[in-house]
Amino acid sequence: MRVAIFGGSFNPPHKGHLNSALYASRQLQPDIFLVIPDCRPPHKSLEAGSPTPEERLELCRRCFSAVPDVEVADLEIRRGGKSYTADTLDELLRRYPDAEFFLLVGTDMLLDIGRWYRADFIMQHVTIAPFQRCADELPYIEAKAEELRDRFGAKVEIIQSEPLAAASTDIRTLLREREGVPLLTEDVYAYIVKHRLYGAKTNFSWLRGKAYAMLKPNRIAHVRGCEQEAVSLANRWGADPDEAAEAAILHDCTKKEKLDGQLALCGKYGVIPDEIERHNAKLLHAKTAAALAKAEFGVSASVEAAICWHTTGRPEMSLLEKIIYMADYIEPTRDFPGLEELRRLAYEDLDRAMLMGLEMSIEDNRSYGNEIHLSSISARDWFEKQVNGKEESK
Ligand code: FE
Ligand code: FE
Repeated sequence: MRVAIFGGSFNPPHKGHLNSALYASRQLQPDIFLVIPDCRPPHKSLEAGSPTPEERLELCRRCFSAVPDVEVADLEIRRGGKSYTADTLDELLRRYPDAEFFLLVGTDMLLDIGRWYRADFIMQHVTIAPFQRCADELPYIEAKAEELRDRFGAKVEIIQSEPLAAASTDIRTLLREREGVPLLTEDVYAYIVKHRLYGAKTNFSWLRGKAYAMLKPNRIAHVRGCEQEAVSLANRWGADPDEAAEAAILHDCTKKEKLDGQLALCGKYGVIPDEIERHNAKLLHAKTAAALAKAEFGVSASVEAAICWHTTGRPEMSLLEKIIYMADYIEPTRDFPGLEELRRLAYEDLDRAMLMGLEMSIEDNRSYGNEIHLSSISARDWFEKQVNGKEESK
């Protein structure tokens, strides 16, 4: 039985790791390919704010799922403390007494391996399988392999690979700058965004792709327009344009669902619809979109609220909430009587625009015989007071 061992911090695991694992798997043909995220690396500490060990395990499961016979093992994490390879090997020798072990190491680890804790013991029991992390490292690997054979009688089998250069340290920085998507597998990136690991901020192209895939194709132009308008309103009124973009991109992401679909989403995300919403898919889509945005894309509470109130409005709306409500109303693909006046107001006096928008929307719904949500009425009354207050203080 052949067992490959691939250990590391995997903070986060990336396509470079996956690429090396796939080459190693093809060449070594192991019966089990063990991926073992460490608990604490012996010679460095994990950056502050790193994900929990359990989260790194989950990231590894997602990253390496394409490797044949892979098993992501929690043995170093369970053992706790500093993760020495020799201790792990003790455990593996007990678990697989007749196995032939192959220890995957990148060039940096290979250069250091002679100084590892119980290096003799390790090299007695495994075949070292070094792989290149960047191109042109092969001469160093071959020289080091020779040295290890001489000094320790080590068995070394070099993995022949086309390396894919990526470094977790760089990726952590990129994630905070809304970048790094191409260096991670889709599943890993989605999990990082969902839990906002590493202080990640969502990449907008990626998020648009996700959001548009949930829409009916004829709604995409509206959502695009809404994003454009929301960013421009945010710039006009001093809100965060990135938060405005995120809220706009996701604001209608559940709109396609009819009532039964909306109610299913309520169940899934713990939304409790009120009496009116219970039979009104149009009202519910704002609530379910907000819940989905939070649960699947880890949006902030302010973005969640802006999505939640984009249809009815509410009293005491935040600046971002007003911006999304208004952007949805006046974005470039809209066309209705009074639109020009509403657009002008939105950039001149946002509260007045909100009052006009709410009045028009209430009127509109009345004319169709739709039930009016209480939040819309109380929002209208609240904005009326705001606007009148401003008038009086003039
Ligand atoms: Fe909507
Ligand atoms: Fe909309």
